[in-house]
Amino acid sequence: MAEKKVEQESRPDSNGMEKIVSLCKRRGFVFQGSEIYGGLAGIYDYGPNGVELLNNLKRLWWKANVYDKENYYGLDSGMFKHPKVWEASGHTSGFSDPLAECRECNTRIRVDKELEKVGVTADEKMSETEINQLFDAHREEIKCPKCGQKNFTPARAFNLLVKSNLGDFTSEGTEPVYLPGEACQGIYLNFKNVVDSMNPKIPFGIAQIGKAFRNEISPRNFLFRTREMEQADTQYFVKPNENKEAYELIKQDRWDWYLSIGIKEENLRWKQHENLVFYAKDAWDIEYNFPGGFDELEGIHDRSDYDLTQHMEYSGTDVRYTDPDNGEKYIPWILETSVGLGRMFMAVLSDAYHEDEVGGSQRTVLKLHKELAPYRVAVSPLLKNKPQLVEKAREVFAMLKKEFGNVAWDDNGNVGKRYRRQDEIGTPHCVTIDFDTLGEENPANKDTVTVRDRDTGEQVRVPVTDLIGYIQ
Ligand code: ATP
Repeated sequence: MAEKKVEQESRPDSNGMEKIVSLCKRRGFVFQGSEIYGGLAGIYDYGPNGVELLNNLKRLWWKANVYDKENYYGLDSGMFKHPKVWEASGHTSGFSDPLAECRECNTRIRVDKELEKVGVTADEKMSETEINQLFDAHREEIKCPKCGQKNFTPARAFNLLVKSNLGDFTSEGTEPVYLPGEACQGIYLNFKNVVDSMNPKIPFGIAQIGKAFRNEISPRNFLFRTREMEQADTQYFVKPNENKEAYELIKQDRWDWYLSIGIKEENLRWKQHENLVFYAKDAWDIEYNFPGGFDELEGIHDRSDYDLTQHMEYSGTDVRYTDPDNGEKYIPWILETSVGLGRMFMAVLSDAYHEDEVGGSQRTVLKLHKELAPYRVAVSPLLKNKPQLVEKAREVFAMLKKEFGNVAWDDNGNVGKRYRRQDEIGTPHCVTIDFDTLGEENPANKDTVTVRDRDTGEQVRVPVTDLIGYIQ
């Protein structure tokens, strides 16, 4: 019997974050890192359903940024890099956040983010003295998020790079190696290799998904600010001064991609950076309306020739591009897109999360794009203690699994419970094999199955032979 759906939906509101965190744990999407040891701040593990959604996001991102483009190349660079890389990139000296500590309860705050909350923008290039002047001018407005007091230490620059050991780390004078503070450096380091091996003509792009680590002062908002993350980056190399038009096209392309994976346009907005670093020509963020409000999802940066110039200077290697048409040598300018997979994951979950009423009962449903859902379809025998039903259901399951791969077998509890469970993880269709399928009740329905739609709760009978086409 079809379930009646009542149009009374809601997206997560102010307590939406808690609902999402709870769903993630309950349904195997995301767990706190090292949970059985009491957890490790800012680190999360993706569970069985989460890794499917994460991999689907990466697959669609890769398709859009490599396969669907003619002039983009993929890359997977090693995490460890020569210590000088982080000097050249400015991370050892300048990759820091202003940290202050509450004198009452020792909570650490990021002063620039707290200033932002009271409407004051701190320039990224500010010295420690300058940021403290700004902090002092607004101390009365900034309260400790934990104890509510306003008694903070002065701000000091806190470097975000995570130090590590590699090889002969016991010798005196060995330079420290770092985990990557951002994944994109691997692209700059391999620019010359890609040019020499693939002979691309400028303009062209390199795409990479890679891990990054930051000693964030206050990891917060679940996957929004973590200490270990994955970033999906593209760097597009253009001729000097031929940046503007390409930059606009890239911005539009990234915006459209979010719509193509089902994100609602009203939950996205653009934000232009007010204080550009000296080399940048322009910088915009795509912000998403997370449960806590709009915040940065992806950065799109017009970076001039800064990155390659730095690496050429620090490495002493000529990384210039030679124009095959006229032999002209130059350092290309770079247009960058960079998004954290965790933030993307959270945006997709918040967008898909709905509570509504179907068949007279409340439900939570993830209205995920069908290409993103952990399972494309779930298959169930109406009753699990009827061998004929189970056998037929197993046949249908095997057929669908061969086609789609990620197909769930669900024979726990009654049909209603299975639907609720699949709704909660966003499975677009549930297929049930019943006595009609066997031709025992209505011979006209022999070899047909019930297919139930996640979003509407509607059920239709579909011949097994048409099932793959129907689901596609
Ligand atoms: P923020 O201002 O929020 O610290 P950022 O401007 O330093 O971010 P970038 O260095 O431009 O961020 O990194 C590119 C992308 O990587 C960001 O748009 C974001 O999606 C993601 N990202 C950055 N820091 C984190 C983090 N700590 N946890 C999760 N994702 C992150």
